[in-house]
Amino acid sequence: YAGTLDSVTKDASQWKEGAPVPYSALTDCFDQIDQTTKRLLISNYLTQFLLKVAMNPGQNGEDLKRVVYLCINRLCPDYMGIELGIGESLIIKAIAQSTGRKPADIKADLLKVGDLGLVAEQSKGRQMTLAKPKPLTVAFVFKTLEDIAKTTGAQSQNRKVGFIQKILTSCQGSETRFIIRSLEGKLRIGLAEKTLVTALAHAIVLKEFGKMKKNVSQSDLAEKLARGNEIVKQVYSELPNYDIIVPALLAHGVDGLRAACKLTPGVPLKPMLAKPTKAIGEVLDRFEGKEFTCEYKYDGERAQVHLLENGEIVVFSRNSENMSAKYPDLIESVPKWVGPEVKSFVIDSEAVAYDLQTKKLLPFQDLSRRKRKDVRTEDITVRVHVFAFDLLYLNGESLLTKELKDRRALLQKHFKLVEGEFGFAKSSDGNSSDQIAEFLDESIKDGCEGLMVKRLTTGDSTYEPSRRSINWLKLKKDYLSGVGDSMDLCVVGGYYGKGKRTNVYGALLLACFDEDSEQWQTATKIGTGFSEQQLVELYDLLKPLELTVKRGDVLADPSKPPDVWFEPKVVMEVLCADLSLSPIYKAAQGLQGEKGISLRFPRFIRLRDDKDADDITSAEQVSEFYENQVLAGGKKTDGGGGD
Ligand code: ATP
Repeated sequence: YAGTLDSVTKDASQWKEGAPVPYSALTDCFDQIDQTTKRLLISNYLTQFLLKVAMNPGQNGEDLKRVVYLCINRLCPDYMGIELGIGESLIIKAIAQSTGRKPADIKADLLKVGDLGLVAEQSKGRQMTLAKPKPLTVAFVFKTLEDIAKTTGAQSQNRKVGFIQKILTSCQGSETRFIIRSLEGKLRIGLAEKTLVTALAHAIVLKEFGKMKKNVSQSDLAEKLARGNEIVKQVYSELPNYDIIVPALLAHGVDGLRAACKLTPGVPLKPMLAKPTKAIGEVLDRFEGKEFTCEYKYDGERAQVHLLENGEIVVFSRNSENMSAKYPDLIESVPKWVGPEVKSFVIDSEAVAYDLQTKKLLPFQDLSRRKRKDVRTEDITVRVHVFAFDLLYLNGESLLTKELKDRRALLQKHFKLVEGEFGFAKSSDGNSSDQIAEFLDESIKDGCEGLMVKRLTTGDSTYEPSRRSINWLKLKKDYLSGVGDSMDLCVVGGYYGKGKRTNVYGALLLACFDEDSEQWQTATKIGTGFSEQQLVELYDLLKPLELTVKRGDVLADPSKPPDVWFEPKVVMEVLCADLSLSPIYKAAQGLQGEKGISLRFPRFIRLRDDKDADDITSAEQVSEFYENQVLAGGKKTDGGGGD
């Protein structure tokens, strides 16, 4: 960042102090980012822009907060559930009305150009404007997007079109393109959230150095920047809420952030994740000489249960979605689990479908039959049993940095078993190969997916929010043969069925997600594992997501397009026989040479509605699976992976 402080300070002085941040300043930054694929450059452009905003952040940091949200195309923390993502046809209608063009012409342009944002920008460019509109501010754009996202009920479609039309009238240049893309739900400039977190941390560190106005050595600065990034990243994974983090950063700097922002009941933290292993031998190799524990890996839905100081109880999914409306019975049961001394807590657990009569666990399929919303306790037919496996917060204190052994002891001390409703994940600390094998068999017999093997003591057993950690290993029955794990992929395309399947999509094109480029990369075409009933359900789910053209952030072989493209939303879990390098598919392209990786003989397992489309198996993971397959003496299959 040599020279950054001086140049930015000069640049920022052109912004009137206290004046709102112009939206065009943000879109100029987006334009800069759009023109490069280099991570470092993207991060630098954004840092410089955020530094400017941080020097003039608005009251309570409001403008900085809004800018941060607009960069990741959100309006609030994702657990609050207010989302952008307006349907294509509605946006086309609004563009048509505001530019005086016919919707059919806009659709035709979209087919040629492939980006509605660009089509809108070009359509506006052709318009004669009499007077220059008043420049848009970040505050106004943010408020309008909020209004659009919150509009519900009768006439909501028309009201949304009205809002969009009005704001388009005031857009100039590339503002139009980015507003439209924001409305669609993705900016498509390759700006990943982790880059935003880094840039935000760097901007605040640079601002602090700027305030000190003294000469700083490059190595001091580099060290501070790296530490700042680490702190903001960690705090964000514990408290994923920029509404709290941004003002705290402005008030206390990165060094004061940890003290100001701690895990808080009511705000879901990003869950710790596990690494797959293929054999007991691999578990023993990885944990050799270390203390560990094996737990049943229950086959249900992750439930992060929070008890707030005010008595409120909230259940969050793996994805930080508020699931309280799905689990009124679970919420009613909570007071029975805890002693009177417990005033607040956060537990990590699995909610599993349960047969009260036979006292047996039921498979995930039964749980998925439960309604997601507005469930009334008296209508519930599928009961759930909660199996707690971690305690993250208790009576005002975060336990994340304690050893698992201690967290488990606290969990068992303050919580009690309630038959058919609440218990602890069954565990065994036996660590010989035979003991693990026996426990694995037992877990399968009891209706679980396998085992979770976790470090039990030392600093390696702390709870690591959002990390796919080597201190948690999963050992699933399915892995013992095959690739090593199932994958969660996003449906990006469909092929019309033949024969009996003409009214549905007979096969689907699936993609993984590359977190660096923010692109979906095709990985396989799947047509097996579906029942006729499932195909009908999938058709109903996917039909409304059909697009006129492929999205720019879906990477696919242009010579073999599917019959239809979809908005990447639906996530499915699949198993496959093996992975191969492919001239057609694009998964992890660049990580194993020019070719992509494809899944061979994929089989549908289940829909994963607890995962977002950008929270699926990453390109990096696909590449790791491929490498493990090669290391395990498997084939380095090349050239196949076609249809
Ligand atoms: P990913 O595929 O991204 O790793 P996932 O949600 O598909 O995540 P897995 O990694 O397969 O899940 O396994 C971890 C999941 O297993 C947890 O998210 C949790 O829902 C479930 N689970 C069941 N029992 C346990 C346990 N004892 N400890 C931790 N997780 C458990």
